[in-house]
Amino acid sequence: MAPVNVTVTGAAGQIGYALLFRIASGALLGPDTKVNLRLLEIPQAVKAAEGTAMELDDCAFPLLAGIEVTDDAKKAFDGANVALLVGARPRTKGMERGDLLAANGGIFKPQGEAINAGAASDIKVLVVGNPANTNALIAQQHAPDVPAARFTAMTRLDHNRAISQLSTKLGVSVADIKKLAIWGNHSATQYPDVFHAEVNGKSVAELLNDEAWLADTFIPTVAKRGAAIIEARGASSAASAANAAIDHIHDWVLGTPAGDWTSMAVPSDGSYGVPEGIISSFPVTTADGEYQIVQGLEVNEFSRARIDASVAELVEERDAVKALDLI
Ligand code: NDP
Repeated sequence: MAPVNVTVTGAAGQIGYALLFRIASGALLGPDTKVNLRLLEIPQAVKAAEGTAMELDDCAFPLLAGIEVTDDAKKAFDGANVALLVGARPRTKGMERGDLLAANGGIFKPQGEAINAGAASDIKVLVVGNPANTNALIAQQHAPDVPAARFTAMTRLDHNRAISQLSTKLGVSVADIKKLAIWGNHSATQYPDVFHAEVNGKSVAELLNDEAWLADTFIPTVAKRGAAIIEARGASSAASAANAAIDHIHDWVLGTPAGDWTSMAVPSDGSYGVPEGIISSFPVTTADGEYQIVQGLEVNEFSRARIDASVAELVEERDAVKALDLI
């Protein structure tokens, strides 16, 4: 089988450094699939990315068929089967939201165009760089020949964080918790939903029986976990973000286990009242390289208000990038 071409942008960054070695070791696509890595960086970071490529060489990973480092998006995405868009313009102190969106438009528009021009027909795109959902929308809108559903954004770290918090609270293994869902935006408004979650077949909501804990402790802990890590570590989460990116693509390509689902931000088809086209997180199952939004879940009042608030934020972001002519 020919190696799979995996493009990583922002390859010299913190997340890139935690991500690349795991991709090359087989964690992304399994122990039988060889990969070609394409590392995209801005010109001033190419040298650092070349250093990372030297370290990747020095691991002598049997599954790593080749590495290319470039600052040219066209080259980086040519023939790409999987694209992990990690590099983004971070919000700096005093920066207005419009400036942040415009700066990211300058990154994700040409990347969408390059994906459109040269990626493989089975391209799968995961946007990690923030604001991830809206950056994914910008790239998607500049890739009209690629099926819109191939553009996704990451809420898997939020999903994994929520499972970890629940496992501690309930004193059970993370592996016993199924059917947790993240809805909405990868931002402080995201909604981690336990109302369909189960532990060994028992309802998590019934086991907890504590709406106040959900509202006042669980949801804010998950939503603000990134800030708590910056406070503790003096740097933003990187290895856990990279791990979640691996989980997202791994499950998209290789499937979710029977009786469970995962969370991905994907273009809405109008399910659960989320306006069509918005890239919003949903519970999804995956099989044969395709995902499906889980249908037919009952959404209670507690959940409805929170999903609506997060989706309203996404609609605002979409309208803002529209007003800036970025989509
Ligand atoms: P990181 O590798 O730490 O983060 C990269 C992006 O991931 C940021 O936008 C960050 O958002 C986001 N992110 C999403 N989820 C998380 C999470 N849970 N925890 C932490 N971050 C998360 O950034 P670095 O500054 O170390 O590296 C970025 C690299 O990207 C640099 O090397 C830069 O040169 C490169 N870059 C490349 C571009 C390109 O290839 N064209 C374009 C722009 C930059 P947040 O800032 O909100 O934490």
